[in-house]
Amino acid sequence: MILASLVPESSLREYYAGRMIPERKTRKIYVRGLPIGGDAPIAVQSMAATQTRDVPATLRQVRIIEAAGADLIRIAVDSKEDVACLAEIRSQTEALLSVDLQESYRLVTDVAPHVDKIRYNPGHLHHHEKSRPIADKVAFIAETAGEHGCAIRIGVNAGSVAPEYKERFGDDHVGAIVQCAVDHCDLLDEVSFRDYLVSIKDSDPRLVIQANQRFAAERPDVPIHLGVTEAGMPPDGIIKTRIAFEQLLSRGIGDTIRVSLTVPFDDKGSEIVVGRSILADIEAGRFRSVPPNFFDGLNIIACPSCSRVENERFIELAAEVKEMTQYAKEHDLTIAVMGCRVNGPGETDDADLGLWCGPTRVNLKRGPEDAGSFSYDDVLAALQAELDALIGQRAS
Ligand code: SF4
Repeated sequence: MILASLVPESSLREYYAGRMIPERKTRKIYVRGLPIGGDAPIAVQSMAATQTRDVPATLRQVRIIEAAGADLIRIAVDSKEDVACLAEIRSQTEALLSVDLQESYRLVTDVAPHVDKIRYNPGHLHHHEKSRPIADKVAFIAETAGEHGCAIRIGVNAGSVAPEYKERFGDDHVGAIVQCAVDHCDLLDEVSFRDYLVSIKDSDPRLVIQANQRFAAERPDVPIHLGVTEAGMPPDGIIKTRIAFEQLLSRGIGDTIRVSLTVPFDDKGSEIVVGRSILADIEAGRFRSVPPNFFDGLNIIACPSCSRVENERFIELAAEVKEMTQYAKEHDLTIAVMGCRVNGPGETDDADLGLWCGPTRVNLKRGPEDAGSFSYDDVLAALQAELDALIGQRAS
């Protein structure tokens, strides 16, 4: 397991109970028996990366993450078959479970009976039943979650901003995502739903810091889930996460954390280990200096993987992309490597070059444009050709 040497020897929960991290002003909510917010210990969570329909593999993964010290574990559900498997998984573990509704808000009726927390992304609510007001959809999610005793995470992602906020805020990206989060808190308040928290994530820690500070100033009462999404592979993924967490947690912002790292499936517990070690360091006042010029040059972002990955080769590919592109590390370019067809196409749009992985093919993109589909063996050469062309264009 990576970074095992960073695990502090002292006991975890008691040690991290917020003694050195400033007192947080948020209210306390409950995810089943787990308190989050206020004076509760900062909860640490992760996500299973196995195919949910492979119940034994997913249960094994849940146990790995749980054994690493997770307070909460997310599982992806995309189909009726996944829902049936979720029920089976629920019956075999006591771990607190969470599910992301992705584009189908009505999925809440299928999953709420089996989980403890529901995450919805305000940027995905417009996809279905376009004529139904967003407030109605949120009320429906809240009512169903409430019936089953589930908490809710309003999960705003800078890569999938709701269209009305994009239009209204134009280039003020941070303004758009913060206002969206604030408005959705209001929607849940209007239906008297109380056990909710908010996350505002991006792959750039600087944006995560800015947006969460602004949100905390607007809604100091609402518990916050912190994370840098698509942080990528260690060590850079850990450095990006640490930059954001140090700045926010030391200001009393953040009630639960998720470290997202692109690591092999069996190593998913390392997200928890890293999260806890970052908490311990901040608690003890051990801040790491940001490596010089960390934000200059080539930026590789990669998703942490989840059950939607259709070919585990994705993890290897992300590492190969990093290695192959080292020759271009002085160039200010972003390359995104995403594990699936669900979020991959959208989340690569903002990168200079993007790859999203299917079962046997990898789709290459040049900004939002398609640049072809390749086998896992051939895509690196195609990426290199695109990269060379881009560097050549910028030089001319
Ligand atoms: S991009 Fe796809 S595979 Fe990667 S974490 Fe997101 S949903 Fe999962």
